Amino acid sequence: MTRIYFAENAMIAHHVKSLLEADGISAEVTGETLAAMAGIGPVDLSVQPVVWVHDPTEYERALEIIRRYEKHERADGHATRPTWSCPNCDESVDGGFELCWHCGAERPGSQASDGDAGQGDRVRDDA
Ligand SMILES: [Zn+2]
Repeated sequence: MTRIYFAENAMIAHHVKSLLEADGISAEVTGETLAAMAGIGPVDLSVQPVVWVHDPTEYERALEIIRRYEKHERADGHATRPTWSCPNCDESVDGGFELCWHCGAERPGSQASDGDAGQGDRVRDDA
C-alpha cells in the first residue's frame, strides 16, 4: 500500500477514499479509530487519519483526484480556514468552528455562504 493523503479528520479521509473508489482506485483509511476516539472532544490533530492506495501504480492518478478535490474544496471555502479570535472572550478558535468553543459566541462576520471562489476571506478583522 502507498500512503497518499493525511486527512484532517476521519470524515475527510472517508470522503477522499470514496472519491478514489468512485474512480476505480482501491483505497483504505487508517488511523480513524483513534481519531474517532479522540473525537469525543475537540479534534485531536495529533491523531491524523491517513488514506492509502492499495496499488502503487494508481498513485499518480489518485494524487490527481486529491488535488482536484482540494482545489475544489478550497475554492468553495470549505477547507481549512484560519484560526479566529473570539470577539467576546478573546479565545482563539479553530477555523473549522463557527462558534467559540469557550463561550459560544459566533465567529465575527460569519456568513456561511461566502461562495465566490477564493475571495471569501479577504475581509480581515483588523480591530
Ligand atoms: Zn468566546
